[in-house]
This record gives sequence, structure tokens and C-alpha cells, in this order.
Amino acid sequence: MITSDLLSWFYAHRRDLPWRTSRTPYSTWISEAMLQQTRVTTVLDYYPRFLERFPDPKALAGAQEDLVLKTWEGLGYYSRARNLIKGAKYVCENFGGELPSEPDLLLQIPGIGPYMSGAIASLAFDKPVPAVDGNCIRIYCRLDALPLVPSEGSTYKEIHSRVLKDIPEDAPGDFNEALMDLGATVCTPKSPKCEACPLSDSCSAFLLGKQEDFPAKKQKKESPVEEHTILKIYLGDKILVRKRPSTGLLAGLYELIDLPGTMTNKQVKNWLLENFPSLAEVKDEPDIRPMGKSRHIFSHLRWEMLGYEIHLPVSGRKNQKDLSACACRLGEPVPPDEYDKLAFASALRAYR
Ligand code: SF4
Repeated sequence: MITSDLLSWFYAHRRDLPWRTSRTPYSTWISEAMLQQTRVTTVLDYYPRFLERFPDPKALAGAQEDLVLKTWEGLGYYSRARNLIKGAKYVCENFGGELPSEPDLLLQIPGIGPYMSGAIASLAFDKPVPAVDGNCIRIYCRLDALPLVPSEGSTYKEIHSRVLKDIPEDAPGDFNEALMDLGATVCTPKSPKCEACPLSDSCSAFLLGKQEDFPAKKQKKESPVEEHTILKIYLGDKILVRKRPSTGLLAGLYELIDLPGTMTNKQVKNWLLENFPSLAEVKDEPDIRPMGKSRHIFSHLRWEMLGYEIHLPVSGRKNQKDLSACACRLGEPVPPDEYDKLAFASALRAYR
């Protein structure tokens, strides 16, 4: 059991924060709402000003939304302020203007979720209920070397039941605050200060020397893969390019001839004969030189490319005219100096 070690540490090291000095259920609610995704140092200024303007649920429920938002200005995530107004109205309409002490009833209030209901119930009403947030999950995952992913619902349940076993009946608020402080100052996401941690003797991750492996990171979903064959086709010294559509991936940028799938040399030759039929009438073969593989990773997609440089045999005026006509159906043959100035899709850098 970590309870007594954690509490002793907390009583010696707890942070001196304004919302801890004179706590009411309402002030706990306001501070917890402000602290969501916001640094403690930022909240320090806002908290007293907000409480001065809106000292209780009735004052907040009756306030102009503009004034509440103005008071909140700079804290970000304005939905929290709007939810506080909605919540205050709900408290006035359903609970006579006083926050209830039971976690289940707190959960009915707009904007109050499982963490905040646990925090208010334990900190303001001394109810032995966990307040499971990211800090709490990180600490418990490390203590027990649990490879759980914080954002998964099953993780919340697992950690909640573990905290429930440790939380003391006589100091539930202190215990939850101790976890908050430990997570904020010692068991931090990166480089935890294990040498200063009161729980290091019971911490499996520390004993394994793998603190930062816990909790587990969410596996990134593999991006879908697209295969492309990229053809850099020379017609004399001109290179065949085309402009991508004005919307969608790589919109409006220039590219080479881009065909779906990865094609063999023979398949490329067949494609050339199909698209440049006059090639069948000349004795010289197209010169097809492999340019190798390349990969480009977009945020949502991966391209695996295989490139070929192709020199079409230009012999005789008729053949040249025929090839140009076919080329123009596929794109635009441009001279080298113009080619160098085009805004090219960086995905094709390897074949540029
Ligand atoms: S020993 Fe290190 S990893 Fe374990 S709980 Fe303490 S600070 Fe976190």
C-alpha cells in the first residue's frame, strides 16, 4: 500500500495553491474546470478574479455570458466557461443552488465528468472516491508496470479500481491531491524525479529502470499504402509534366506521369506502346532506365513509388509530330529551363 508514504510526502511537500486555502464545493468546481488542460501558473490569476465576480452558483447562473467569457478571456477552451454557466443554472434549478455531495448527482451537472465529480466529492465533501486523470493513470501504470493506454476506457476503469483500494476513508481529498502533486512535480511524463519520489520502493517501473515505458503509448494506426509508378518521359530535351487538380492532395502542383501500381520494365514498355502507338513503327526501342524506389509519407497516407526515366526515340519529322501529339494528350512537354521553375510535388523529389 502506497497510502501512508504518499500522504506523509504530501504533508511535507504539498503545493501552496489559492484554491486549497478556503475550499468550498463551488470553488473546487471552478478551480478544477480552470485547471483542465491549463497550467497552474496561468490559473493563479484567473481564479480569484472569477470567484470575486461570480462568488456562487446563483451569481454565475444569472451572469451575462459575455461577462463570464470576458473574465475567462485568455484561459482558452471557452466551452469550459459556457459549461460552467450551464452547470450553475442546472445546480440552481435542481439542487437549490448548492452542489450535491454524491458523485452520481455531480455527474448530472453539465460539464462535470467522472474526474471532476471525483475531485469535487473527495476534496470538498471528503467522499472516498478516486479522481482519475492523466497524472493518476501515469503514476499507477508506473507503480504496477501496467502497459495500459491512457485514452482507452478500460484503462480508466482499471486505474479507478486500483485507486479505490488505496484511498483512505479519513483523508480521501488529501490522497487525491497528493497524486495530483506527485504527478505534476515528481512523476512527470518525461524524466520523472524518481530519486525524490516517496513511492520509489514500491514502483515496478522504477525497479525495472523503465519508467518512461509506462503507461503504454497508443499505437499509431498504419497509414494506407498506395503504389505508384512515376515516369519521367523525355521527348528530345523536353520533359513531360502535368498539373495536378486544383483541389485534393498536392493540389495545383506539377508532377511527372504517375501511374497506379508498381510496374515492371516490360509493363512500362507496353504502356508506352499503348499511349504512343507510333513507337511501333520506328525501329529504335524507347530507352527505359530504372530510377529506383522511393517513399513519401503524408499525414494519412504512404506512397511507395518506383520511377523510370524514359527517352523516346525521336527520329524523323512525322514520328516527332506523332509523339508530341500523344504526349500532349498525357500532359505538357516542357523545356529544361521551364521545367526547373515549376512548383513540383515534393513527394516526387527523388525523380525530379
Ligand atoms: S519511482 Fe519514479 S516512476 Fe515510479 S512513481 Fe515515483 S517518480 Fe513515478
